[in-house]
Amino acid sequence: MRSAATHHCTTYALPAAWTDGVSHTPGSGGTAGSRRRSTIPPGRLVGDGLPVPCLDGEQRPYLNLDTAASTNALPAVPERVREFLPWYSSVHRGAGYKSQQATAAYEQARAAALRFAGRRPDGDDVAVICRNTTDAINHLAYRLRLQPEDVVVTTVVEHHANLLPWARVCRRRFVECGPDGTFDLQAVGDALRGRPRPRLFAVTAASNVSGWLPPINDLIATAHEHGVPVLVDAAQLAAHRALPPAADYLAWSGHKMYAPFGAGILIGPRATFAAGEPFLVGGGAVDLVDLDEVVWTHPPEREEAGSPNVIGAVALHAAIDQLELTGWPAIAAHDDRLARQLRGGLARIDNVRLLGPEPDVDTLPLAAFTIDGVPHALVAARLSAEHGIGVRHGCFCAHPYLVRLLGLTTAEIAAHRRAVRAGDRRNVPGAVRASAGINTPAEDIDRFLEAVSAIAGGQPSTVAYWQDSCTGDYWPQRDNKLERKAA
Ligand code: PLP
Repeated sequence: MRSAATHHCTTYALPAAWTDGVSHTPGSGGTAGSRRRSTIPPGRLVGDGLPVPCLDGEQRPYLNLDTAASTNALPAVPERVREFLPWYSSVHRGAGYKSQQATAAYEQARAAALRFAGRRPDGDDVAVICRNTTDAINHLAYRLRLQPEDVVVTTVVEHHANLLPWARVCRRRFVECGPDGTFDLQAVGDALRGRPRPRLFAVTAASNVSGWLPPINDLIATAHEHGVPVLVDAAQLAAHRALPPAADYLAWSGHKMYAPFGAGILIGPRATFAAGEPFLVGGGAVDLVDLDEVVWTHPPEREEAGSPNVIGAVALHAAIDQLELTGWPAIAAHDDRLARQLRGGLARIDNVRLLGPEPDVDTLPLAAFTIDGVPHALVAARLSAEHGIGVRHGCFCAHPYLVRLLGLTTAEIAAHRRAVRAGDRRNVPGAVRASAGINTPAEDIDRFLEAVSAIAGGQPSTVAYWQDSCTGDYWPQRDNKLERKAA
């Protein structure tokens, strides 16, 4: 296929109610830079406090401590989506008034994403609207046109989404972590100085397992001193802290920042996407197609073949507006209080082992832990069935990091691999993870810590649990998945 590009440029206008970002449910947060010191969480989420049935027959307000996996929506998000739905139409494809409005809403969301990432909407960077962080990093891995002998420096702390896309296209050089799950600038500098010279440094800004916040601005500066561009995986950071403006590439997901409508963002220099074939090819990415020729359009549209997810984009825009309205100082102060309460509280419980850095280290309000003698899957099942608390257990899509945090030996890892290959997940190593968000009050962390104390202290359950050997999950004996579905 021959390829070339032509220029194209459009101006969009939106009804004020879609763009001011302030006229939608203001939530309970303060303004940017709020000095509030109360323990009232700075936001609330759709579905907060819904009662769920527990084994003792009581209904308890559901306590979602699984925000690192996915978040419920800020109320402003479905509200903005509802306002937009009557105007829903095709994006970049229709001549009608509604299509113009839908296109405008989509482009306004793109501009908001660029601002959220510290970029000027009319600057040298583009925001590609994709599905999620995984999609964004796979997209970039394709677009950088790496050769099999090229090297990307990455770390053992990464989520699989920032490991596997690089494994497919090039070689990886890893920055190791210590037993506390952190690494330092020196280790990164050493990896960056290695030969061949790396084409990219791909690093997370916040761990989904330990909550650790690597010194991301310093890491970026170090990489730049070595002439290496940086991709920051901001999946966990986006809902908690301002994104690092110096990152060359950024990837994050709407569903982890209170906009669970299927949109994510990849940010990068326009030049990265200006030449060569896009990741996905098809309608919308082209200016001209003949049977033996294609003229790709300009980025970012060039990277967005197929009908775009305008609802997801509108939702993401609403969440961005709401987070900006709440302000990072209020969010960070809340996170900091929760993180210390959560991690400090777990570290003080007998038989509980907190993974990752010490509780006084700055982290997200997130903690992974194990309880001596109680399988992680059983802890999670008991927290749910007996206490109405939702957490995650397992390896959190970060297997290399978790085996390091757990301190597993090579022989133990090999034994578990054999078992998993044989379809037996009963003894898969792992941990329990609790992760809080903008809506979590201190009382919820107390409730969680009490529940963990009870389990770690040997409080018996009122029912027996059985384990599904294929998944490793535990279920209360009177329960089964069919009953759950019917309920
Ligand atoms: N990176 C990190 C640090 C994550 O925590 C996750 C998801 O948990 C991802 C990437 C992948 O995000 P998504 O599933 O939205 O693609």
